[in-house]
Amino acid sequence: MSKAIVSSLYDSDVFKMACRQFDKAADAINLPEDLRDRTKYPRRCLAVSLPVRRMDGSVTVFEGYRVQHNVSTGPSKGGIRFHQHVTLGEVAALAMWMSWKTSLVGLPYGGAKGGVIVDPTLLTPTELEHLSRRYMQEMVNFFGPHTDVPAPDVGTNERIMGWMMDTYSNHVGHLSPAVVTGKPISLGGSLGRREATGAGVAYLTKKYLEDLKIPLNKTTVAIQGFGNVGSETAIALAAYGAKIIAISDYTGGIYNAKGIDLKKALNYIRTQKTLKDFDGGEPIANEQLLELKCTVLAPAALERVITDKNAKKLKCRVLAEAANGPTTNAADKIIEERGDIELIPDVLCNSGGVVVSYFEWLQNLSSFYWSRDEVMQKLFGILDKAKDSVDVQKKKFGFSRRLAALTLGIQRVADAKAARGLFP
Ligand code: GLU
Repeated sequence: MSKAIVSSLYDSDVFKMACRQFDKAADAINLPEDLRDRTKYPRRCLAVSLPVRRMDGSVTVFEGYRVQHNVSTGPSKGGIRFHQHVTLGEVAALAMWMSWKTSLVGLPYGGAKGGVIVDPTLLTPTELEHLSRRYMQEMVNFFGPHTDVPAPDVGTNERIMGWMMDTYSNHVGHLSPAVVTGKPISLGGSLGRREATGAGVAYLTKKYLEDLKIPLNKTTVAIQGFGNVGSETAIALAAYGAKIIAISDYTGGIYNAKGIDLKKALNYIRTQKTLKDFDGGEPIANEQLLELKCTVLAPAALERVITDKNAKKLKCRVLAEAANGPTTNAADKIIEERGDIELIPDVLCNSGGVVVSYFEWLQNLSSFYWSRDEVMQKLFGILDKAKDSVDVQKKKFGFSRRLAALTLGIQRVADAKAARGLFP
C-alpha cells in the first residue's frame, strides 16, 4: 500500500480548503483508503491559450482552464468563470464542489468547472465574443452534451453561453443546444434558469427560517455580492416579505435599516454597472457588511470571505452560502463551536442553478419545453428533498450541516466509482 504522489498542479489555499473538507467527510464515513484519492482528485484538466484580436488591432493572449473533476456519475457539469483572479487551483476546487453538489441533489452528472483569467468588464462586446468562442473552440473535443456541459458562473452570462453553444454547433455541423446550459431562451434556454440560483437560495433560506420559527416579515437580510446570484436572492427574499438591509459589490456596500429599494438598485446597476455612489443608503465596506446584525447573511460573491478573522464577529442567525466556498475551514470550526448560526452549506444552498441547468438540458435533449411554473415547482421539490436528506444525515450522525451535505455527496460518487472499477 503506497500513498499517492500528490501533484502540485492545483496547489492553492482554495484547493487545500476543498481537500480538507473532503478529508474530514471521508473520515466521517470511513471511506475505504483505496477509494479516497481517486474520489478526491480531479479526473483531468485542460489549460489553453486564447489569443484575441483587440479593437486597436493588437493581440492579447488569455489563459483558460477546464477541470473535469468527476465523470463517473454522468457528464461533468459546471460553470465557466471569467475573472481576473482565476487560478487552476481555484477552478479545481470549484469543480470538486460541483461533483458533491450534483451528487447531493441527485442529478445524473459529474462535476467540472472552467475559468479564464480576464476582467470581462475591460473587454468590448466584440472582444468578449471572440474570447468566448475561442474558449469553446480550443476545448471543442472536451465538451459535449454527454461529455461535459458548461454553464454560467461569475463573470459569464446567457449571451456568452449562446456564443459557446453556436461555436460548438458549427463544429459538429448541427444545432446542439444541450452542450451548454444557461443559454438565452431563443437558443433553447430554460424559463427560470436566470433566476434559479437566487430563487433556490431564497427558498431554502425561507424553509430554514420556518424551521427556526422566524417570520419572514421580521427577517433582515445582508447580501454580499450583487451579481446574478446576489440580486436574484435579494429579489426573491424581498418577495417573501424579508427586508434587505444591505447589499454590496466589489466597489463597496450600501446599508439601509429601513430596507434597500431593490428596483432602484437594479436600475442603478443597469446604467452604472456597479453600486459605487448609489444613494439608497449609507455606504459601508464589504467587511462591515459581513459583520452586520441581521437575520440572514448571504455571501453571494467569491470564495473565502468568512474567515477566522470575522467568524467570531458574525451577528446573523442564518448563514446562507449563495457563493461557492465562502467559508474557510478555520471559520467553519468557529461557527460550529459557536453553535448559534444555522449554516446552509454552498453545495445545498446554491444548487438551484445546476438543478435548472439539468432541466434545461433535459428540455434540449427531448425538444419539449416546460412552463416557468413547472420549472419552479420541480426545482422546489428537488430542493425540499435535498434539504430533508441533509437534515436527516445531520441528526443521525450528529454532523454539522456542511459535513452532512458533503458526506452525502461524496458517498454517492465514491459508491459509483467502487461499482464501476478503476477506469472512470
Ligand atoms: N455555476 C453554477 C454553480 O456553481 C451553475 C453550474 C451549472 O449550472 O452547471 O453551481
